[in-house]
Amino acid sequence: MVGAPSVVALPLRTRFRGITTRELALVEGPAGWGEFCPFVEYDDAEARAWWACAREAAEDGWPAPVRERVEVNATVPAVDPEHAHRIVTASGARTAKVKVAEKGQDASDDLARVEAVRDALGPAGRVRVDANGGWDVDGAVAAIRALARAAGGLEYVEQPCASVEELAAVRRRVDVPVAADESIRRAEDPLRVARAEAADVAVLKVAPLGGVRASLRVAEQIGLPCVVSSAVESSVGLAAGLALAGALPELPYACGLGTADLLAADVVAAPLHPVAGVLAVPCRPPEPTAELLARHAADPERRDWWVERLRRVQGRTPGQ
Ligand SMILES: [Mg+2]
Repeated sequence: MVGAPSVVALPLRTRFRGITTRELALVEGPAGWGEFCPFVEYDDAEARAWWACAREAAEDGWPAPVRERVEVNATVPAVDPEHAHRIVTASGARTAKVKVAEKGQDASDDLARVEAVRDALGPAGRVRVDANGGWDVDGAVAAIRALARAAGGLEYVEQPCASVEELAAVRRRVDVPVAADESIRRAEDPLRVARAEAADVAVLKVAPLGGVRASLRVAEQIGLPCVVSSAVESSVGLAAGLALAGALPELPYACGLGTADLLAADVVAAPLHPVAGVLAVPCRPPEPTAELLARHAADPERRDWWVERLRRVQGRTPGQ
């Protein structure tokens, strides 16, 4: 059993996924702390897997890791080139993931950002781009070719289009490897991606897939190289992603788990900020401090919303 949830609202440094504050609920159980953080627009059915991830961390603990350290990528939001350069330089990472195809921007913004990132990384660095499904097939093919030229090579392109069929069509027409991210949001999705030959790389997010063990099963099923990425969790939730990255039999790419840097505040005293692009794999989740939970507590109306949501997702009715 887990205790009553603590609900926090953490400010983001830069708008991400259209939000400037990350709300989430934290629960403590016998194995440690778990984070329940489905985005607010997700319905209860979708949120259930996120609860399974939080519950696993709090009640069961994680399987033993096979590695102690995980290389992570710098994440570059859809910012201007100078800002992008600064983010990559400050990160010390050797791999950078650059957001492209942002609404309200055009191809020249993406090219300038990717050029700045290549400049910051140097020729030995690896540049990947993430379109979050923002292109159609023809647009993706043209953009990927132009971006690969501007970047002097791309490691892969993440979710160029929205659908699995479109990913497969893009993949047949470009040399750059294609990674599926949003197409693998639910545990039943991977087989569809594999069957359609829609991706070369699978991006796994531990919370929407239902926890570390569930994600390991997905990785086995899909039979593709995997990258573990975050959903912009606090350091408590990031630790679950690191536990997955630590337990995957093979981990050929840098992971998208360096996202503590995207938050302007966290709930633990020593947030999981990568050092020179590397994070240690934790054995258990880090503990939030009472002081930080209080400082970043969500306002009462939002707290009640999360408590109620959590109660529904856990399958209990009020008063039970
Ligand atoms: Mg992505």
